[in-house]
Amino acid sequence: MPSKIVMLDQKGDPAEIYCPVCGQPVFENEGTSALCSHILFTYVDLAGEFGYVNQELQELAEGARGYSDVWGVCPVEVLMLSIDRPDAFCLAVTTSGLACGPMSATAYVGFKFTPEPE
Ligand SMILES: [Zn+2]
Repeated sequence: MPSKIVMLDQKGDPAEIYCPVCGQPVFENEGTSALCSHILFTYVDLAGEFGYVNQELQELAEGARGYSDVWGVCPVEVLMLSIDRPDAFCLAVTTSGLACGPMSATAYVGFKFTPEPE
């Protein structure tokens, strides 16, 4: 099955990523109750850690992290392959620019198109 990760490249300052379902900003709301229900997880490669993981994916994310430590692969790719939802996909936005030399960072956000019932 192809990995459902959409890669986007961006030059310059990091852009805010908005939820494609409801339009809420993702990182601005990270860690607050305003984070919308469509977000499955967030991950930034520079941090090397998941920022937010939806309740239903805690165990899968834990497994993906362990697998990635052992095999040196991106935990997001492992996690996406283990998510059993047809409506799940991931946006990967790579920002590149010059800080003290060329640098780039990739922010990953997993989404689902079907919100849970309240
Ligand atoms: Zn949303």
